[in-house]
Amino acid sequence: MADKNSSQKAAEKTQAALMDKIVALCKRRGFIFQSSEIYGGINGFWDYGPLGCELKRNIKDAWWRDVVLMRDDVVGLDASIIMHPKVWEASGHVGGFQDPMQTCRQCRRHFRADQVWDAIVDSDWHASLAELFAGLPETNLLSVDSAALMKWAMGKGKKLAPGLALVRDPQITLSWLAERVQKEPQKPLPKPDMLRYLATAQFAQTGLVTPCPNCGGELTEPRQFNLMFDTYVGAVHDEENKAYLRPETAQGIFANFLNIVNTARQKVPFGIAQIGKAFRNEINPRNFTFRSREFEQMELEFFVKPGTDAQWHEYWVKERMKWYETIGLPASKLKPYIYKKEELAHYASACVDVYFDFPFGSQELEGIAARGDFDLSQHQQHSGKSMEYFDDETKEKYIPHVVEPSAGVDRIALALLCNAYFEEWAPTSEAAGAAPMPAEHGKQPPKGFESRVVMRFAPRIAPIKVAVFPLLKNRPPLVEKAKEVFHLLRGRFSAFYDDGGAIGRRYRRQDEAGTPFGVTIDFETLGEKGPDLKDTVTMRDRDTLKQERVAIKELPARIAEVVR
Ligand code: ATP
Repeated sequence: MADKNSSQKAAEKTQAALMDKIVALCKRRGFIFQSSEIYGGINGFWDYGPLGCELKRNIKDAWWRDVVLMRDDVVGLDASIIMHPKVWEASGHVGGFQDPMQTCRQCRRHFRADQVWDAIVDSDWHASLAELFAGLPETNLLSVDSAALMKWAMGKGKKLAPGLALVRDPQITLSWLAERVQKEPQKPLPKPDMLRYLATAQFAQTGLVTPCPNCGGELTEPRQFNLMFDTYVGAVHDEENKAYLRPETAQGIFANFLNIVNTARQKVPFGIAQIGKAFRNEINPRNFTFRSREFEQMELEFFVKPGTDAQWHEYWVKERMKWYETIGLPASKLKPYIYKKEELAHYASACVDVYFDFPFGSQELEGIAARGDFDLSQHQQHSGKSMEYFDDETKEKYIPHVVEPSAGVDRIALALLCNAYFEEWAPTSEAAGAAPMPAEHGKQPPKGFESRVVMRFAPRIAPIKVAVFPLLKNRPPLVEKAKEVFHLLRGRFSAFYDDGGAIGRRYRRQDEAGTPFGVTIDFETLGEKGPDLKDTVTMRDRDTLKQERVAIKELPARIAEVVR
């Protein structure tokens, strides 16, 4: 049991280190930067660099193509970000879009009440405290070593969690613990509970139950906190002119329902899709871009006849789960989370979240909810406009029900980045032709191999599809030909021209960018090694590292076959 725990701990450490490497690669290669970095950054906001914005664009294009363009029953919309404030009253966001929040009395940090314990378990002070128990039996509180605890409180604890009562006044916590041990000497307490117990016990004095994940200080009681960013429309900053940055794109769709029914010649069942920015003043932005304050959503509201909700919900869950595989996320890392009845919003009849295995745990990418007629009915009530739909065939009038698949672009981008990251040992010219192999942690590559990081994006989603290199930069005929090939390709695919540094280094840079193909213009291309090879290039496959000669005129078709 103790072994299992230490191997679990080691796995968690490796995953955290993996996440650090992914974040570093994102900065190094220009996928994602911290927003306003030159001013020290701003928490919860991110900028996508040259590769990141191509990646995001490819995600959105793939979604738009599959959800809108390839279907007869879905049309698109691009609504404004700031809408009439009544929209948010009708939707329930003004009154209800609230998360209970706790604030630390010492360091003033805010935490979502339902996420405090997760944050504590992730914190450095908790990890350090847990180390004290590493060698002890798993199940018994009696094994607490109070001398070690005291030593921790005076040393590491002081540094990592100065606000913790155990640190501020260790005697109180220790006597509290002794009392607990005395009272129930036989009652075992498993290690995770023991830590929780220890951290909460200290606040028995003040009646508060959770310490601050950041400094260990006392948290306030949970208070309601509205997640919408507000602003003012026009010159006068008063309540009358208050407006909101949309916290979801969906309401733009509901507010335009009548416009679209009247203009798009669609009959129920049909859908309206929208991609756009959404803003939430998240209390605790975390896990890189996973929980941001500004993000993009891809939402579909699919309107159906009342009574057909369940079958359409099932249909969209299947469609959406399959879609993730088409952009390269493996089924083995995707899971549906099916809401229990008691977890559903009062108006919803079903909800399934699509979860992905991130290095920091399995987390939501998309929610697919059957929301009944809640949204349209609310807008009917608040706007006074009838949202009823007249069914030509059955001559019935009804408010359509809606099934809503709602996905986050940034979370999908992060999932793709995490999934694509591989550390490998790749053959050098000494071992040319050998297959690359997974790198072994902490070991050097064998002779003839070198380490490489490769982003194995599905070609469909890769930011750059093909990189073009002249073998040498200082041979004008090579450069001229390479530019010609580059111009041939760039009109059809996102292509990149690079003549800087040794060819091996240029390959490595493209491996980190996740470019599926590298095309090199060499002396064979110029016909200097015989007429047969004239106007052929070396095409290198990112994953297998296989190189083959391909005629320039065949390149577009060869690449298109793989990336489309
Ligand atoms: P969570 O429970 O993680 O806060 P949610 O259930 O509130 O998410 P929805 O309101 O269903 O999220 O939003 C739909 C999608 O929008 C989510 O599945 C997610 O992909 C994305 N999303 C929501 N909040 C954020 C955020 N703060 N940062 C990035 N993406 C987000």
